[in-house]
Amino acid sequence: MAEVTVREVNGLRFEERDLRGKVPVLSDGGAFGEIPLVRRVDPIFGTGVRFVSGAKIQPETRADVAELTSPGGFCPFCPGFHEKYTFPFPSEMVPEGKIRRNLALVVPNIVAYSTYSSVGVYDSTRHFVPMEEFEASLLHDAFAAMLQYVRDIRAYDAQAAYSSINANYLPPSGSSLIHPHLQSSNDYVPLAMQSALIERARRHRKEGRERLLMDYVEAEREGPRYIGRLGNAHFLTPFAPSGFREVWAVLEGGADLTDLGDDDVTAFADGLAKVIAAYVEWNLGSFNFALTGGGPDAAALGLNPLFRIVARSNPDPYYRSDVTYFERLYGELMVDITPEETAAGLRESF
Ligand SMILES: [Zn+2]
Repeated sequence: MAEVTVREVNGLRFEERDLRGKVPVLSDGGAFGEIPLVRRVDPIFGTGVRFVSGAKIQPETRADVAELTSPGGFCPFCPGFHEKYTFPFPSEMVPEGKIRRNLALVVPNIVAYSTYSSVGVYDSTRHFVPMEEFEASLLHDAFAAMLQYVRDIRAYDAQAAYSSINANYLPPSGSSLIHPHLQSSNDYVPLAMQSALIERARRHRKEGRERLLMDYVEAEREGPRYIGRLGNAHFLTPFAPSGFREVWAVLEGGADLTDLGDDDVTAFADGLAKVIAAYVEWNLGSFNFALTGGGPDAAALGLNPLFRIVARSNPDPYYRSDVTYFERLYGELMVDITPEETAAGLRESF
């Protein structure tokens, strides 16, 4: 039976075991041997991850997205179209109608996925922003516009207190539109993982601890997964990731999204630009991210906004999805790169 290693810090359980995979060894004529197969459980979300050895899951070359991303045809977010095909919010809901911050633009989403949903583009002057051009200022403006939307909604309907700002980038991540965009969800009920985070914080509090995510940062601060701090934003890789090249940021500057000030957004955007630049270096061409707020009790529960970003399969014509039955049906990631490797690669640029 595999040996379990458990590290308990600040009420958080970092559990790891080597399952020792039994396989025929090619160099030994197919005689059976053992190879490392490490499994971890996430201290916050309880999800599992398996680090496989000998697999090559990560891309070795960059995807050619020239044809996929070339402008032409109807796009509701492009110049000449967004003026006509997007609508302002009612002024009592969002005083600005459409929210603009330099090139960023936030408008109502036509498709409702939550009680109050908006869609925003980083750049309303061009159809496509390649990942290598995601500069900190572009990210800052898009998040600043989205956070304004969240604050406006709270002022309009305080009950819609479960907020998040999220994104898909290119089709492998689930995005139906090529023009890079992000979305905000504001609802009376939490999303499932948002609920898991809030309930975990509640349990942490019952156990006499103060701040779940800052206790997590504290537990990891001196270790191989901590990347660096920019202002009030702590960047680190999760002990047990749920996606490829996953990176987290814990935003110490507030309890909920509505507490974040411009300094917080600037520091966070600086870090996110560094993460996306590293994704480019690693030949990754698609991602999802989620900036999750802790709901109406965020302050009482000692929560902080949690940002998570994961790389997705590259937009190649016959791409292999990074989501197998492991991830889709068991909530368990199978991956060939450890969070320690990802953190090491990022630390140099922080
Ligand atoms: Zn467009």
